[in-house]
Amino acid sequence: MLLIRHVSVFSPTPCGEMDLLLAGGRIEAMAPRLDLPANLPGLEILDGTGKIAVPGFIDNHVHILGAGGEGGFRTRTPELQLSELIKGGITTVVGCRGTDGFCRGMPDLLAKAKALREEGVTALILTGSYQVPVRTLTGSIEQDILWIQECIGVGEVAMSDHRSSQPETQDLARVAASARLAGMLSGKAGLVNLHLGDSPAMLRPLREILDRGEIPPSQFLPTHMGRNPELFQAGLEYAKTGGFLDFTTSSVPLFVEKYGEIQAADALAECLARGVPLERITFSSDGHGSLPAFDGSGRLVALQVGRVTSLFAEVRQAVRQRGVPLEHALAVITSNPARLLALPRKGQLQVGADADVVLLTPESLAIETVISAGKVLMQEGILHNRGTFEEG
Ligand code: ZN
Repeated sequence: MLLIRHVSVFSPTPCGEMDLLLAGGRIEAMAPRLDLPANLPGLEILDGTGKIAVPGFIDNHVHILGAGGEGGFRTRTPELQLSELIKGGITTVVGCRGTDGFCRGMPDLLAKAKALREEGVTALILTGSYQVPVRTLTGSIEQDILWIQECIGVGEVAMSDHRSSQPETQDLARVAASARLAGMLSGKAGLVNLHLGDSPAMLRPLREILDRGEIPPSQFLPTHMGRNPELFQAGLEYAKTGGFLDFTTSSVPLFVEKYGEIQAADALAECLARGVPLERITFSSDGHGSLPAFDGSGRLVALQVGRVTSLFAEVRQAVRQRGVPLEHALAVITSNPARLLALPRKGQLQVGADADVVLLTPESLAIETVISAGKVLMQEGILHNRGTFEEG
């Protein structure tokens, strides 16, 4: 049992100063003052005075196995390590495969997610990769979502990109139908995570599916929506008609200079100013994905690796540089993804929720303490846990 005393709670809605009691991996009680005997066996007390408590962050799109390789085998990006998630305040991570659905297998993805769970965070997966037909673990999207506990959807399926499998609208509709049905049968989201590239087709195939009026927009999460000004503009229109948008927080200056990428913090501020409902917006880091830059003739000119720590860095940027209220900025990495991913015990600080808590310092919004399932993984900036093979 852990009692956090006198902490300013953003659930992410501001709740004022509270005591938070964590027990059995859940939030057991939350009230302005909890009277517990200080000598209660097994009770640890953490003084939260002057700190902000927020829900553990949800990163809905991370290449936990590594990804990429657009510049040959030596450019395959490395695996994610636990300490990176902890430093980023991420207590729930959704692992996926991307461009390389061939050298990175579904068994490896699932095993990596299970390893991260054993190491202390909530790790989930998406089945498939860029390619359609979707290559699954058990033979079908339906069976993967139904029978693999960690599997909550499909992705990232690439569309409107030179690296995609050039799927037709009908191919994408079938993927979504499978995910939706399996999601309903298993009580999961059955979400389809769509990678948007820079082709002029942009969201057209997705719009064609939604125009049929059968599959709702909440089944899809198109990501990389700040990739260029045209796609961002198309995203604004899409969101106003009910669509959801995910902005990638990993970026490099080259993307901003060369493609006019709109960074996630700016994208959030702009969306809110243009009347996009907050609940339609999420951030994800694309951590450990490759960040390739191509020249006009499609030749690779640069390649870097995405970082999960960018997730909260962009939220902080939105608050500090763009004046987005903290509770709104937090929603895009807590309550919004929790709703979309159908994770009712995640993304909120309330009684009965999972005891995933991040403590921030108010002025700098630095991540100070990270608690996952009631266990303190980092305290006052000092890591208590690392991945199994990470150097201490
Ligand atoms: Zn992608």
